[in-house]
Amino acid sequence: MSSFTETIISRAILDSYHQKLSRQITSDVVVVGGGPSGLTAALYLASAGRSVTVLEKRLAPGGGIWGGAMGMNDVVVQQEAIPVLDAALVRHGRGQEGLYLVDAAELA
Ligand SMILES: Cc1cc2nc3c(=O)[nH]c(=O)nc-3n(C[C@H](O)[C@H](O)[C@H](O)COP(=O)(O)OP(=O)(O)OC[C@H]3O[C@@H](n4cnc5c(N)ncnc54)[C@H](O)[C@@H]3O)c2cc1C
Repeated sequence: MSSFTETIISRAILDSYHQKLSRQITSDVVVVGGGPSGLTAALYLASAGRSVTVLEKRLAPGGGIWGGAMGMNDVVVQQEAIPVLDAALVRHGRGQEGLYLVDAAELA
C-alpha cells in the first residue's frame, strides 16, 4: 500500500490548480456565476470558439437549480429550453401540458 505525505498531496493540488489558473489567465470572456444563466452563456461562447472562464463561489456548479421543484430533484422547463438542454447533452422527458422534466442533478 502506498503512503503519501501531506507535503506530496499539497504539492500535487497546488501544482495542478496553479496550472489550470495560469491557462485561464488570458480568457476571452469571464463569466461570474455558474448557475444556469452563466453556464448557458459559457456553453454557447465556448461552442463559438471563445476561451471562457467561469468563476463560481460555491463548490458545485448549478446555482439555484439543485433545489428542483418543491425541493424535489426534478425541474420543469418549457419548450424554449429544449435546444439548450440538447446542446448540453442533458436528457429530458415529456410532462403534461407541454412541460418537460429534467433531473435536477443532471441539469446542474
Ligand atoms: C426551490 C426552487 C425550485 C425551482 N424550480 C424550477 C423549475 O422547476 N424550473 C425552472 O425553470 N426554474 C426553477 N427554479 C428557478 C431557477 O432555479 C432559477 O431561475 C435559476 O437558478 C436562475 O439561474 P441564474 O443562473 O440566473 O442564477 P442562480 O441559479 O442564482 O446562479 C447564480 C450563481 O452565481 C454564483 N455567484 C453569485 N455571486 C457570485 C460571485 N460574486 N462570485 C462567483 N459566483 C457568484 C452563485 O453561487 C450561483 O451559483 C427553481 C428555484 C428554486 C429556488
